[in-house]
Amino acid sequence: MTSTTLKGQPLDRPILDSMLRRRMFYTPSFEIYGGVAGLFDYGPPGCALLANIVDLWRKHFILEEDMLEVDCTALTPAEVLKTSGHVDKFADWMCKDPKNGEILRADHFVEEVLGARLKGDKEARGLKVEEKEEDAKKKKKKSKTTEAVKLDDAVVQEYEEILAKIDNYNGEELGQLIKKYELKNPNTGVEPSPPVAFNLMFQTAIGPSSNAPSYLRPETAQGQFLNFAKLLEFNQHQMPFASASIGKSFRNEISPRAGLLRVREFLMAEIEHYVDPEGGKRHARFDEVKDIEVVLLNRHTQLAGQTTVEKVAIGKAVANGTVDNETLGYFLARIQLFLQKIGIDQSKLRFRQHMANEMAHYAADCWDAELLTSYGWVECVGCADRSAYDLTVHAKKTGAPLIVREKLEKPLAIEEWQIDLDKKKFGPYFKKDGKTVETAVEALPQDKREALAQALQADGKITIDVEGVGNGKVEISKDLIVIERRTRVEHTREFTPNVVEPSFGLGRILYALIEHNYWTRGTEGGDEARGVLSFPPPVAPTKVLLVPLSSNESFKPLLKHMSHKLRILGVSSRVDDSSASIGKRYSRNDELGTPLGITIDFQSVKDSTFTLRDRDSTKQVRADEDTILAAIKALTEGTKVWSDVEKELPAFESQDAEVPVR
Ligand code: AMP
Repeated sequence: MTSTTLKGQPLDRPILDSMLRRRMFYTPSFEIYGGVAGLFDYGPPGCALLANIVDLWRKHFILEEDMLEVDCTALTPAEVLKTSGHVDKFADWMCKDPKNGEILRADHFVEEVLGARLKGDKEARGLKVEEKEEDAKKKKKKSKTTEAVKLDDAVVQEYEEILAKIDNYNGEELGQLIKKYELKNPNTGVEPSPPVAFNLMFQTAIGPSSNAPSYLRPETAQGQFLNFAKLLEFNQHQMPFASASIGKSFRNEISPRAGLLRVREFLMAEIEHYVDPEGGKRHARFDEVKDIEVVLLNRHTQLAGQTTVEKVAIGKAVANGTVDNETLGYFLARIQLFLQKIGIDQSKLRFRQHMANEMAHYAADCWDAELLTSYGWVECVGCADRSAYDLTVHAKKTGAPLIVREKLEKPLAIEEWQIDLDKKKFGPYFKKDGKTVETAVEALPQDKREALAQALQADGKITIDVEGVGNGKVEISKDLIVIERRTRVEHTREFTPNVVEPSFGLGRILYALIEHNYWTRGTEGGDEARGVLSFPPPVAPTKVLLVPLSSNESFKPLLKHMSHKLRILGVSSRVDDSSASIGKRYSRNDELGTPLGITIDFQSVKDSTFTLRDRDSTKQVRADEDTILAAIKALTEGTKVWSDVEKELPAFESQDAEVPVR
């Protein structure tokens, strides 16, 4: 797997990392206290980039489809997450090294050791091996697993197949793999303990007493589900509709690594799209996206131990059943369009379907948008069909009607077995058990009712199972109960909506975006190569760099004036009036991804014309103030690209970029 920059250069991650640290995109939290794994703070360009991604996300999804945004609390009572299944099932498999106590995430451990053996095999066969930075570091330590040892062809195939479906193994199976292949911790040479489940939620307590256990939410979804009935009412009972939420989630990852990619606190943006399960989960706007081509890695391919992808129009993938339904397909295409809009490299995007065991406890089908980074393919957006799972379990637990009532166009006549209880006699007869028995009677399904009606007629009494009353069997005589076949006319239909959930991890997307837009170029003077982040203008942290030609006093009023004008337009700008050469000042801001630069020179003082420079091509155009401002507005809003501006405005041959400024 080759990791390259935007211009096809091999990506030098340590250099990129140091640039991101130096320019304070993000930085380890609590660093002067030694830092905490998996926690990061964003600095000014990181905050601005994240805010712009969030802004575009809101416009692309919430605004485009009239979604109902909610902002729910992160503190969540244990009962809610017990009902949703997270207390019992939201876990990863963890092993412990008995020698040094090191905690390992079981699937990652298997992946690493087998991956290292395959690499050793390649080395032994004299094949070129790409080395990731962290592997190189480990090798320097004392990894025994990366020794150049040739494996049998059959073993190579076996390992490759295991790696292709690594996400599909449960704890027991991972334990079997560790035993079968004698996988040892490279740091100690010892086999770790069998995997045990480790719940990923942070537990806490609400209020001073410890009687109210709770958790920090691991996703924003539950808050949205609990508000379903109110949101449906807000939406005037119209279906389908979607809620959306942007907020922090917390997961106590076993071994956070890879910078922003696996952290313990991160910003999520989630959509819960509620759809009628009847009628194949069609989507009214599917036609708009059906011809969009997506790259798919389906579950059958992975289970066969392969990673071959297919490029297919989403309409076709839904029609042939690869993607389960139109709603899911619609969102996969919309996710792709969003990623494209913010500047993700489309050749580094694929949708991978979850295998059966890998799917979260609530999911019926699930596709991840994965982005290729120097750490390999990384899941950045999960798109799951959660079926009716969440609304059903919360409704059952609380009795809240998390359902949709739909008026039927034609009333429906339903023939069914109905039960009448003689309430006057029933209560006094069963005394304290009356309510329990009544609930059990009302819950009797239609097929049982028919048999019971016959028994009642034949024997004058029936016997039913009632948990918690007597020996669990209750006799009811015919003077207390009537069971009859009657016709009921139904005017409304009740159903629990299914939920399709696109779930975005914005930190992962931000990091992938940085890698996908990073490249280096030599300065015009031929000094060392400088990093460039070619973010599309709408997403770039700062849009415009204002550069006076020199520190001459006559430029100051114009600088102030242009800053003010840009502020009025809502366009972020920075002034660099340092004494460095113009070229240096521009290249410093190329590292921050600033797409546009305005140079203020003596001509500007005379006639209010300005040059506008494009970060990527370093080309410049010159025009009057209003024209330049209009071009900037169009570029930063994404309605024009630089090539449009270049065609419309006269080119300007630069003041020598490397001429030092006095
Ligand atoms: P999931 O609910 O596990 O499908 O996660 C939804 C999205 O959250 C993923 O696609 C990731 O983008 C993001 N995500 C999950 N876990 C982490 C983590 N530990 N660090 C950063 N992002 C995460």
